[in-house]
Amino acid sequence: MEIRLYNTLTRARDALVPADPARVTMYVCGPTVYDRAHIGNARPAVVFDLLRRLLGHAYGEDHVLYARNITDIDDKIMARAIAEGIAIGTLTRRYEDFYLADMGALGVRRPDLEPHATTSIPAMLAMIATLVNKGHAYAAAGHVLFDVGTAAGYGQLSRRPMDEMLAVSRVEVAPYKRAPADFVLWKPSSPDQPGWDSPWGRGRPGWHIECSAMIAECLGETIDIHGGGLDLQFPHHENELAQSSCAHDGAALARIWMHNGFLTMAGDEKMSKSLGNVVSVGALLDEGWHGGVLRLALLSAHYRQPLDWGSQLLADSKARLDRWGRTLGDVVPSAPSPALLAALADDLNTPQALAALSADVRADPAAAAAGLALMGIALPYTGENTDTRIDALIAERTAARVARNWAESDRIRDALLAEGIALEDGPAGTVWRRL
Ligand code: AMP
Ligand code: ZN
Repeated sequence: MEIRLYNTLTRARDALVPADPARVTMYVCGPTVYDRAHIGNARPAVVFDLLRRLLGHAYGEDHVLYARNITDIDDKIMARAIAEGIAIGTLTRRYEDFYLADMGALGVRRPDLEPHATTSIPAMLAMIATLVNKGHAYAAAGHVLFDVGTAAGYGQLSRRPMDEMLAVSRVEVAPYKRAPADFVLWKPSSPDQPGWDSPWGRGRPGWHIECSAMIAECLGETIDIHGGGLDLQFPHHENELAQSSCAHDGAALARIWMHNGFLTMAGDEKMSKSLGNVVSVGALLDEGWHGGVLRLALLSAHYRQPLDWGSQLLADSKARLDRWGRTLGDVVPSAPSPALLAALADDLNTPQALAALSADVRADPAAAAAGLALMGIALPYTGENTDTRIDALIAERTAARVARNWAESDRIRDALLAEGIALEDGPAGTVWRRL
């Protein structure tokens, strides 16, 4: 099965040729955990979860390593912890748990690796030291800065003209920078701020170095796929690319760079906290939207196209999934249809895959059921297996499992079992049946 993916680096739909088909590596920039995720943040989580599932199908589940980081130290986190009067770790654990539960409701499986910034500091310090030793970074006023002038081909990913890149970088004016485009690898912490000891004084990492160091530490110098939202292309990914290849003597950071387009509200405005036009995943679930409906809505547009969120999209997605659920309720899955697989292998063409699924529902329900499972789209419970109390207990158990609270998850399973209700965990989520 040949998978083609649009590569931002080459601006072409490249064939995926993993360095080692028995160990396909993918890294996606994960959340900064200081608030509930909005449905725009869920788009990359769902898109790259779908790609992880497709890679597992194509190469074998055990032959894919997907890492998504948790940014658990950052200035926004520090400000929020102070505002709430709680420890940073308390805040980040709370929102990481929310994130995993919210994404779990959308059928997003946990990645194979979930590195945390605060436990990867030694890897970051090692990479910064390498960059300093190789003449790509310099210490100044308690900071360590990356010297952009020493990075051959800087700008190759975002292909922005230098003056435009400088306009962005100038936002961070600082007298200690040699050149305006230089960016921070390490910055000093005051005694009341969280920090780690380093050869350059007590401080904390810049954001970009975090991903470069974690990729090298948990996946290797060159990975097969690197993903994230369009807004990460510049400066974040451009800087990751520059740092990593300078630290690794020119080795490419990733063969294929992928970027999802924005989820927008009311036409063309990107959903973002700073614009205030956000709707959280938690709020949508509380309104009663089934996770499968939200996932279907997120996958209804091609991942590189903008997706305008709204009540019509939700209503259409619910109607579609309800229709499929009426046909597929008790169908035993066979294998996904060739048409569906071909659409997904063609740069994750989900509109075409969903059209293939509609045709399968009519012509080959068993293939349709398998296709839904591959795409991670759970059917809302229909027919006799509808019981809001049991669904609520299943949701609680899912939340307990993502929080690794096995005692609680076992307790809920056993309580239901005592009533004669068995839970089954499958690729499309947890379903129940009467024994
Ligand atoms: P953040 O926690 O803000 O760094 O965002 C986490 C991920 O969500 C990143 O990959 C962003 O690019 C992505 N993202 C943020 N807002 C949107 C949006 N409105 N549409 C699609 N992706 C987004
Ligand atoms: Zn990153």
